[in-house]
Amino acid sequence: MTVYMDELDAFAYSTKIGSGSPVLIPAGSIEQHGPHMPLGVDTLLSRRIAGETAGLVNGLVAAPIVYGYKSQQRSGGGNHLPGTTSLDGHIITAIAKSLVLEFAGHGIKHIAFINGHYENYQFLYEGTDLALRELASARTHDVTVMLMSYWDFVDDTTINELYPNGFTGWDLEHGGVLETSLMLHLFPDQVDMTQVIDAPPAQLPNYDVLPVRPELTPSSGCLSSGADATAGKGKILLERASRGMSEAILAEFA
Ligand code: ZN
Ligand code: MN
Repeated sequence: MTVYMDELDAFAYSTKIGSGSPVLIPAGSIEQHGPHMPLGVDTLLSRRIAGETAGLVNGLVAAPIVYGYKSQQRSGGGNHLPGTTSLDGHIITAIAKSLVLEFAGHGIKHIAFINGHYENYQFLYEGTDLALRELASARTHDVTVMLMSYWDFVDDTTINELYPNGFTGWDLEHGGVLETSLMLHLFPDQVDMTQVIDAPPAQLPNYDVLPVRPELTPSSGCLSSGADATAGKGKILLERASRGMSEAILAEFA
């Protein structure tokens, strides 16, 4: 049986959640990912990595949050780039809050956001906090929510194995080896490796400036090169991230 809620009928869904399964909510974005990958990378990857993780924890994957919070120059190239289409922060907060309350209303006690877009995190956190506050004021205290960004579950051993020439940090991995490898493994038809721009990692200041200065973002829109990406690395990344997240979920929701 599928782990994806939006592929289940309502009766199968009820049976599954009645057994106490956790619900994993993918959170992505519509954001440029260079000339070699589509705008939907963060949504595609968060949904599939959540699916892999759900298989390890007897969980269900909710329909994803498709749009994300505004792309930022130091982690996603910036919201000024064509195609990037984002929501204001209070809207992400409201969506996260609404979904927690909605699934809590279904009787689900264990919820986890599986984030695939760097900039979403604090808004998911805020929405979760507001939802739990509302539940607490209604004397409901038995709902637990976890928040995780999948790259935080790629351990140092894997990083050393996959980045033999040095690792620049997850913020600069936008459109780089991590996402390109995962896409090559999971959605090979949606990657064009002939279009990768093999430039050195972006040199960005250690502050933000608004309005953005577009010239700070590399012309590729990527903050590091995806040239060293392979489907084999994607397979390893998928396995390690989903295993790491499943262990955390099983420990927290035990
Ligand atoms: Zn991305
Ligand atoms: Mn992103």
